[in-house]
Amino acid sequence: VSAEREHADAGPSSSKQWMLCPASVTLSRGKPRKSSIFAQEGTAAHEVAELLIKGEPVPPYIEVEGEQIAVTEDMLDYVAPYVAFADMTEATASFFAVEQRVSLEAYFPMNRMPEPVFGTADMISYHEATRKLTVADFKYGKGVKVDAKGNTQGRTYALGAAALLAAKGFLLLNEIEILIFQPRVSPDPSKETLSRVELITWFENELKPAIARIGAGDTTENPGECQFCPRIGECRSVGRKAIEESRLAFDDGKVGGVVVPEMSSLSNEEIGAILSKAEIIENWIKGLRAEASTRIDAGQSVPGWKLVPKRAQRKWKDEEDAAKTFLKRGMTKAEVYETELRSPAGMEKVLKASGMTKEGIALVLKDLVVKESSGTTLVEDSDSRPAVSLASIFDAAPAPLLIGGAPVDDVL
Ligand code: SF4
Repeated sequence: VSAEREHADAGPSSSKQWMLCPASVTLSRGKPRKSSIFAQEGTAAHEVAELLIKGEPVPPYIEVEGEQIAVTEDMLDYVAPYVAFADMTEATASFFAVEQRVSLEAYFPMNRMPEPVFGTADMISYHEATRKLTVADFKYGKGVKVDAKGNTQGRTYALGAAALLAAKGFLLLNEIEILIFQPRVSPDPSKETLSRVELITWFENELKPAIARIGAGDTTENPGECQFCPRIGECRSVGRKAIEESRLAFDDGKVGGVVVPEMSSLSNEEIGAILSKAEIIENWIKGLRAEASTRIDAGQSVPGWKLVPKRAQRKWKDEEDAAKTFLKRGMTKAEVYETELRSPAGMEKVLKASGMTKEGIALVLKDLVVKESSGTTLVEDSDSRPAVSLASIFDAAPAPLLIGGAPVDDVL
């Protein structure tokens, strides 16, 4: 399992935020980055993927920041497509690495970056025959859909990977493919392909000036990508912007005039315009909730609000002990233990451990596994996923309920 990652203040994963807002780095030096159970699960899922790609055994629990995160069947299911892609890529790659540290220092004279930009790329591969570099990023989160198109994190890793390849003697690069696997949002990875010239042009025109601003200590606050900023609780600019956006969303055209219309009376255009302002308002409110929790936790009082324990769930103090107690009381194993069919990813793991080849496993699973979407989700037009067509919505609508052979509406 990989060692704890070292973090740059201006790391690739927060590049979208600091490219827009230098203050998110320059005014937050030394501030602790809040972790969450979701972030810990993400770290555990990355480690599971790394172990599977390296062909090493996966333990039932992964320790992250002192917490034991269970490796569930769901987690194995979700990492499976990324692991399968990595295995397939590795088979023909001239260079392949997972959890690879990359840095942008080679792009600056004397390797001196005005601000250190480095990070750990999930997967890098290079194919010498086609001169193609692939950078894959695995995201376990499902709250925010991440698109590969114009993805600053992927492009920053790609630049670091290209420098690493050059240092290893692989100097020729025609095509760069950036893939984002986000299995809890979409079964297929999001993809961007660009040429070396396009990547370097983006670096020169957009990334390099942003790094220079941070290196020069620019403290401009520019809201827009605030969700994971460590300063969201104290930043006035994001609050101001949220209030401005709310006012614009409900402006009736007169100075200071605000209307809160009935939702059903809004036109489609008005709903679209209001929703596109919602993100910054929601993020600010989320930040405010976190700030209130931190203050109450520290013993302060926020009028009208309190902290309560989350719903407690019963669990066995010691599973083995509990099972022994029931078996001793004469209960059968079938009464004490539940058995469930493993998920497709779980069975893949068992079949692999039994010595079966990948091709053999694929053949067995082919007719047994289906992929089902659990419904539709509302996203912005810029999202790379194809929209559901109206025809397919109607096709998927449940058949009319029949009473005595006639549709219910006809009978009632
Ligand atoms: S909260 Fe937003 S505007 Fe404020 S420093 Fe962070 S990213 Fe910039």
